[in-house]
Amino acid sequence: MISPATLLRDLVAIPTVSSQSNRPLIEWIQRFFLPLGWHQRLFSYEDAHGFEKINLIVSPRSLDEESISAELAIVCHTDTVPYSSTWADATNLLEVDGMLHGCGACDVKGFLACMLATVLEMDTAALRHQLCLVFTSDEEVGCRGARFLAEHKALKARYAIVGEPTSLTPARAGKGYCLATISVKGRAAHSAFPEAGHSAIFAAAQLLREIENLAQELLLERNNAFSPPWTTLNVGEIRGGTAKNIVPSECSFLLEWRPIPGQQPNLVLDRLRKIIGRLSANEFEAEVEVLRMDSGFETSAESTVIQSVQRQPGTPIETIAFATEAPWLARMGAEVVVIGPGSMLTAHSPRECVPKAELDSCVHLLRTAIEQLCG
Ligand SMILES: [Zn+2]
Repeated sequence: MISPATLLRDLVAIPTVSSQSNRPLIEWIQRFFLPLGWHQRLFSYEDAHGFEKINLIVSPRSLDEESISAELAIVCHTDTVPYSSTWADATNLLEVDGMLHGCGACDVKGFLACMLATVLEMDTAALRHQLCLVFTSDEEVGCRGARFLAEHKALKARYAIVGEPTSLTPARAGKGYCLATISVKGRAAHSAFPEAGHSAIFAAAQLLREIENLAQELLLERNNAFSPPWTTLNVGEIRGGTAKNIVPSECSFLLEWRPIPGQQPNLVLDRLRKIIGRLSANEFEAEVEVLRMDSGFETSAESTVIQSVQRQPGTPIETIAFATEAPWLARMGAEVVVIGPGSMLTAHSPRECVPKAELDSCVHLLRTAIEQLCG
C-alpha cells in the first residue's frame, strides 16, 4: 500500500501549469497503471498555443473503441494555475502541522493521489460494473479537456465524482459560467467639436445602464440551493478612448454571468442582444463576442451518487460557487457530485495546502463509493 501523501509528493514534483503540455504527468499516471494491467485510452488535441494536451481514461475492464460507457467515472484535472516565481517550494511538497503545502496540493493533485491510492488497495477486477478514472487537461483555462471529451462523445457515465476541494463535503449543484466581450463602436472627432463624432464611451454607458437593469430582472428567477439564489452578472473590465481631446471611437467591456442551473446560459445573451437591437435604432453599434457559455449542473440530493460519498447519512450537502467540470459530465449523462480534500480558500495562491488527514478520509470515501456503485 502507498499512502496518498507519498503519491502527492511525486505528483506535485511534476509541474503542470495549463500553459504547458500535461504529457509528463499523463505518462507518469500511465506508468502507474501498467503493473495493474488496466486498460488505457488517450484523447489528445493541440491547444491554441500549439501545445499537446492529453485526456486519459483508464479502467480495470476493456474500453470500447467507440464511446466508453462507465457506471462510475471519477474525474480529476491534471493542470494547475501558474505559481509565483517567489514560491520556491511550489513543486516540493512540505508538511507543516499536518498540512501538506505545494502547488496543486488541494487543486487538485490531492484528490488525484487519493484516486490512485484507492484503486491500489482494492480488488478492482472483482467489480461488476465499469469504473473509469478520467484525467483531464486544461480545466483551469475553461474546462477544455472535459469539453473535448463531451464534444467527441468519448465518454458516457451514469454517475460521476468530480474532484475539487470541498473539504470533503459533497456538492450537488453549481452555477454555470459565461463570458462575453462587448465592443461598442463610435466615431472619432476633435473633442472641441463633439457633434462631428459619436462617443463610444457615452454609448457604452447607455448600454451598461441597461445591463444593470437586466441584473435586477435576473433576481426574479430563483434557485434556493444557492446564495445568492439568482443568476449574477458582472462587468469586470472596461477599456475605451485614446486621449482626453479625442471623441472615443471604441469602448469594450467584459460581461460575465453565472447562470443558476436550469436556466439556459444564453438567456442573458438573448436579452443583451435585444437591448442592443433596441438601442441600435439610435445611431448605436455594438458587437458581442461570446468567450464562454457553460451551463450549471444540479443533481438531486436523493441521488445514489450523492449518498455514496456522504460520510454519514444526514451530513450537509452543499452547492459550489466556483466553476468545475461537473456540467460537462452532466452533459455526458451523469448524475454528478463534486468532492475532494482541502479548501478552495487556499487554492490558486502560495498558501495552497491540503490536510493530510483528509487525504486518508478521501481514500476511504472513494473506496466506499466504488464498492457501492460498481461492486
Ligand atoms: Zn480545480
